[in-house]
Amino acid sequence: MRTAYCGQLSAADVGRSVKLAGWVNRRRDLGKLTFVDLRDHTGLVQLLFADDRDDLQSAHTLNREDVLVVHGTVQRRSAGNLNLEMKTGEIEVRVETMAIENRSKTPPFLVDGDGSDATEETRLRYRYVDLRRDRLQKALRLRHCIFRATRDFFSERGFVEVETPVLTKSTPEGARDFLVPSRVHQGSFYALPQSPQLFKQMLMVGGLDRYFQLVKCFRDEDLRADRQPEFTQLDLEVSFPDGPDEIYGLVEGAVARVFRDVLGIELELPFPRLTHADAMGRFGIDKPDMRFGMEIRDVSSLFSRSGFRVFADAVASGGRVAGIVAKRCSGYSRATLDSLQATAVAAGAKGLSWVKVEDPVVSSISKFLSGEELATLIATFEAEKGDLLLLLAGQGIDKALGELRLAVGRKESLAVPGWRFLWVTDFPLFELDEEGNLASAHHAFTSLRPEDYDKIESDPLHIPSYAYDLVLNGTELGSGSIRIHSRELQERIFRRLHITPEDADLRFGWFLQALEYGAPPHGGFALGLDRLAMIMAGESSLRDVIAFPKTANAMCPLTDAPMPAAPKQLAELGISVEEC
Ligand code: ASP
Repeated sequence: MRTAYCGQLSAADVGRSVKLAGWVNRRRDLGKLTFVDLRDHTGLVQLLFADDRDDLQSAHTLNREDVLVVHGTVQRRSAGNLNLEMKTGEIEVRVETMAIENRSKTPPFLVDGDGSDATEETRLRYRYVDLRRDRLQKALRLRHCIFRATRDFFSERGFVEVETPVLTKSTPEGARDFLVPSRVHQGSFYALPQSPQLFKQMLMVGGLDRYFQLVKCFRDEDLRADRQPEFTQLDLEVSFPDGPDEIYGLVEGAVARVFRDVLGIELELPFPRLTHADAMGRFGIDKPDMRFGMEIRDVSSLFSRSGFRVFADAVASGGRVAGIVAKRCSGYSRATLDSLQATAVAAGAKGLSWVKVEDPVVSSISKFLSGEELATLIATFEAEKGDLLLLLAGQGIDKALGELRLAVGRKESLAVPGWRFLWVTDFPLFELDEEGNLASAHHAFTSLRPEDYDKIESDPLHIPSYAYDLVLNGTELGSGSIRIHSRELQERIFRRLHITPEDADLRFGWFLQALEYGAPPHGGFALGLDRLAMIMAGESSLRDVIAFPKTANAMCPLTDAPMPAAPKQLAELGISVEEC
């Protein structure tokens, strides 16, 4: 229906006869002349209706979002009419014929606005109008380019994209499952995959050698801005890997390719690495934002014999005293210090001590420390006049230290612009969950070094695993591990997780059996593509890079899903629903 795109016309096309199709962005009547900005996915061009012909009269009635097909000639705009802010602002198309293909109701918000003229709920309800906005168009096209570069990269390296089932059995990744009732087997349910983890391992047992997939995963979790109940990940698995290094190299290569192809940015490879223990010790978090320093320093040794009981007791009872230096922050007000204290307390600390390195030193703990202790403390932190020391004492204060560091980093805008990738390696195999039970830190299929096998029973919380995360600017982009490929070891891990042999057989019998039929060593990774697209597009919500996302309470305002099922459907499934 068209011979050119609106946003691509330029002065070079003057004199050209073109057919264009698109939406009315805006109409202006100026006496006998009517100007219409026509929009397609490439941008806008001005249409000029200047002929007093009957068949063009309806131009006066055009409204926003009406759909047009026009035929006309590209001409230079008159001098007073140039619009240098518009890409096609030097030209216009003088319309010779027009067909109104469809009329639009007044749209609920402006397509050329910034989106603030409607609530997000309204924008999602009218997502088809929202999608016409430039920002979403750009985000979805960027997302497509990320997908294409990823597919190219892995295809060129001998990987095969294989689809894995959506109606399946639970694949535990630490979230709740979405269940789908079976009609044929009433009372039984499929689970939607939290990830293709076990299937990709099956593909390795099946000799596929190198697998990848851009795949939808489903996790029934409470939502946040960077979570969606269904999300897309780049999932990959490799047979006979040369340890985690091979996986790091592949993922780095893929990410570098995506940044080059999509943003024209060359990333520096390889990405730096930090063990989990170092990340926690130096940054208080397992996904450190490396765009600024302000590392945590342990000063326990200064206080083991201190007269200040709070610090001395913290050290004596197996805890520590540690803190950060906030450069040039000694001017923080009482209110600011109180809010930092609240941050630390919310993250599990008992209280916050602070030292303003001024002349004289002002500190919340000067009453309890000798002048010499204060001076040593300041010297140990290498703090200078004008700096502020923030100190915590006790057990399990890593998280609070990490939160303090982030809070000051944000307040002072310390993060330098750029893309700071980081591998966090050697995650612990096990951790304690919220109820204090032993749980896998990554997932139950993660392998460990043979020299640590004995600790599975004797000292489970101190086993470094072959699990690793990729972090970008303080956001976790993905995780992976080298896997267990022996049934015996896998069963041992299940036992440690208090999964009884009967339960293991019921839930994972099929998988355990496959490990007995020549499972090769293998390992892999999964990277959240929505999150990567969000960061690359400079957005702060996943909803801005997903065509049809769910709201924060897991609804789709466009379709009104989820919905109660019809009684007939429920009867077919053998399900009765209690009144809610
Ligand atoms: N299945 C894991 C996940 O989705 C990734 C992996 O271990 O490969 O987080």
